Amino acid sequence: AAPLAIVRGAGDAADLGIIMRTGEAFQTFGKVTHVMLDKTGTLTEGRPAVRDIEALGDENELLSLAAAAEQASEHPLARAIVEAARARRLEVPDAEQFQSVTGFGVTATVAGAPVLVGRSSLLEDHSVDLNGLAPAIDRLESAGRTVVVVARNGDAVGVIGLGDEVRHDAAEAVAQMKRDGLVPVMVTGDNARAAQVVAHRLGIDQVHAGVLPDGKAQIARDLQHGGAKVAMVGDGINDAPALMQADVGIAMGGGTDIAVESADIIIVRDDVTAVMTARAISRSSYRRTL
Ligand code: ADP
Ligand code: MG
Repeated sequence: AAPLAIVRGAGDAADLGIIMRTGEAFQTFGKVTHVMLDKTGTLTEGRPAVRDIEALGDENELLSLAAAAEQASEHPLARAIVEAARARRLEVPDAEQFQSVTGFGVTATVAGAPVLVGRSSLLEDHSVDLNGLAPAIDRLESAGRTVVVVARNGDAVGVIGLGDEVRHDAAEAVAQMKRDGLVPVMVTGDNARAAQVVAHRLGIDQVHAGVLPDGKAQIARDLQHGGAKVAMVGDGINDAPALMQADVGIAMGGGTDIAVESADIIIVRDDVTAVMTARAISRSSYRRTL
């Protein structure tokens, strides 16, 4: 190895908003065959907004209940729900016993009642009855929405549909990967139909939806067992296990601290195409060392 060339490459990268934390990942990147991509916050802006509310009772009451449970959560979906309640100038009561269940949602006590907000499987785990809301969930998912169910006292009381914009640079990043012979693989905790809408727009054929954080790491492991060298790009706490399992873990800089700490490469610039720039630099520097 010739450390000088690597240092030089790392310097080029830093100028472009790319931080290489390990020299090893830097060299491995040139041999990567598959790039796993988180959806929310990586391929999309990660700033979802509330688009639909289906309440069994009063719509505003549902939104303020959901916002109460979500106010302590850092998740983009939580922030969107709290923001929507604020925009409607709703009163958001305090919550107690807040707990976040990564990849599922949150639980809290609001005005003495246990409240759950999250994916429908979170409610199933707490044996909550969907109360006839299944068709509404289905309709919203078909429209490509991320769907969050709200329950109080063990009863579903409504669903919230959230939408997120695809990042303007995501299509170019995926196109570059494919041109370079890399296989893009989407991995997301979101529902299959919301995932498919984004995958279709970006030209990603391999999609794993409804995946829990450990599931993302397992997908990386499965690809590796099949002989692939894997890069993983993510931003969330739910991406940390896969970022560590991948041969090259890449965190988007705006992401959570845990994602950043688990990664080999950090993209500080707000641009997914920087992933391919990092690869190009890594390849050219590596060649210089030979
Ligand atoms: P992604 O892999 O796309 O970044 P996550 O693993 O963070 O998604 O979340 C997966 C799913 O879990 C979300 O689509 C949502 O249904 C549910 N979820 C996660 N966190 C929350 C939360 N704070 N409030 C409500 N639902 C949540
Ligand atoms: Mg994410």
